Amino acid sequence: MVSATSAGGTMSTASTIFRFRDVGGSGHNLAFGLIAVALAAAVFYVDTYTDIEGAVAVLYVVTMLLAAQATTRTGLLVIAAVCAALTLLSYATTHRNDADLQSTIRLIVALAALFVTTMLLLKTESARLALLSINSALKDSEARYRSIFDRTRVALWERDYSKLRSYLMDIRAQGITDIKAHARINPAVVHHCVGLIEVVAANEAARELLGPQSAAVGTLRRSALPGQEKFLDVLQAIMDDARVFEDKVEARADNGEDKLVLLSISFPEDPAAFNRVVVSMVDITQREMALKAIAEAQAELTKASKAATVGAMSASLAHELNQPLGAIVVNSQTLLRWLDRDPPDLIAVRRSAERMIRDSQRASEIIQNTRSLLSPSSNKLENVSLDRLIDETMALMEHELQRSGTTVLVDRMPDIPPVSAVKIELQQVLINLMTNAIQAMDEAGSAQRIIEIAMERPDIDHVSIAVRDSGPGITEDAKAKLFAPFFTTKVTGMGMGLSICRSTLEARGGKLDGTNHPEGGAIFEMRLLIKPEVEHG
Ligand code: ADP
Repeated sequence: MVSATSAGGTMSTASTIFRFRDVGGSGHNLAFGLIAVALAAAVFYVDTYTDIEGAVAVLYVVTMLLAAQATTRTGLLVIAAVCAALTLLSYATTHRNDADLQSTIRLIVALAALFVTTMLLLKTESARLALLSINSALKDSEARYRSIFDRTRVALWERDYSKLRSYLMDIRAQGITDIKAHARINPAVVHHCVGLIEVVAANEAARELLGPQSAAVGTLRRSALPGQEKFLDVLQAIMDDARVFEDKVEARADNGEDKLVLLSISFPEDPAAFNRVVVSMVDITQREMALKAIAEAQAELTKASKAATVGAMSASLAHELNQPLGAIVVNSQTLLRWLDRDPPDLIAVRRSAERMIRDSQRASEIIQNTRSLLSPSSNKLENVSLDRLIDETMALMEHELQRSGTTVLVDRMPDIPPVSAVKIELQQVLINLMTNAIQAMDEAGSAQRIIEIAMERPDIDHVSIAVRDSGPGITEDAKAKLFAPFFTTKVTGMGMGLSICRSTLEARGGKLDGTNHPEGGAIFEMRLLIKPEVEHG
């Protein structure tokens, strides 16, 4: 009994010798095999049992050639070995006692012929196998391409541009290099070119994008192509031997709907491959609509933020003007008191009037400055000495300081360089910080009211002015929102001061920070660039 394993083994041995697995060729191969066996038997018979003197064994070559149709490489080697063995057996049988030179030469010729034939057949077989494997790789690759082509969500067309290319190359040979200019003189050329394009295949996504008619195999529908100008661009790209064409174009679907698509065509390097040019389209209608909506929203936002800026400016104006206007009122009251004296103290009247003029000038400067912030050309930079800045600010705040009983201690630093800045901006920041300090100490009813102003040079590019008070310090709640617009803890506060101060300094590359001093009170630090090169953000 033959076991299944040995049967399988026999089959596999047979298949290593015979090409049973060749699709559709097994009956054919069997016939070749049988003829080869019959021929080998015939050759052996004639060679061994007849008196025909000649290189009969050479006919084994024919056996080999026939067998090669039905066998594998191993099979060929086995058959070649069998034929050689039969040749030697015939020789041994017929020339056992009378071996002569002629018969030996015939033997050698027959064996050599067998050898050479086997080698050539083996080589042919190798080439055949290599060809088969290349062919199968090609089939795999084509199948892969097909599957990607069919399944991708990008709309793809395979179009035959070969006729179009030859036409364009012909007219180029006639000296026409600008197809647009050519089409202006011969408008019919566009229609002619459209007629030269054929659809070879299209995928499902292409059918979904433009409809079944635009994706149908055959002559391309005109509407599936971009508008005339863009189509002429495509023609120009072909004439210029471009490898890729990519652009946003409008294409009309079968149902008349216009779609904005990103058209991309890859032109092959080999002119012969223009019969299968891959054209892709990605629908960007939604994306473009979204971009348009964003642009519109941005324009709205710009308008809104301009309005907000104007709002912030008015708030800033109101806030900044409060101080000089308040001072003017106080000074006019003082002036009236000096006038009411008997006799009136005219020297004091003059002093008050001068202060009023100074404060009015400041108020007008503030308006000027705010106006110039709104206009594109900003204020001019000048060299501002920190010492003078502090002195002048203290003079402006004189009344306020006196009223609140606040002492200002200034820690000066010799050789500190002047900063290139807009003086009124720095003054405004300093006034704000000092006013906040006075108000904080007022509110807390601090017995000792001291403001310490210190200057420093933290690094080569910066100087800083720190304003520390002896008030209650910044509350935990206020710490995080200190610089947020409209944040205030004061009943009559506007909450704009610190926010404006910070943006004023940042616009010149500076900084403003505030925290509590470890020994009590709040401390705010203005950090200024000594030489701001350009206006910052
Ligand atoms: P406003 O003075 O109108 O309140 P600011 O922006 O100048 O607006 O100040 C915001 C808030 O920061 C104040 O309401 C206050 O709570 C806090 N603050 C500012 N400076 C000080 C300070 N020196 N000490 C304590 N808190 C301060």
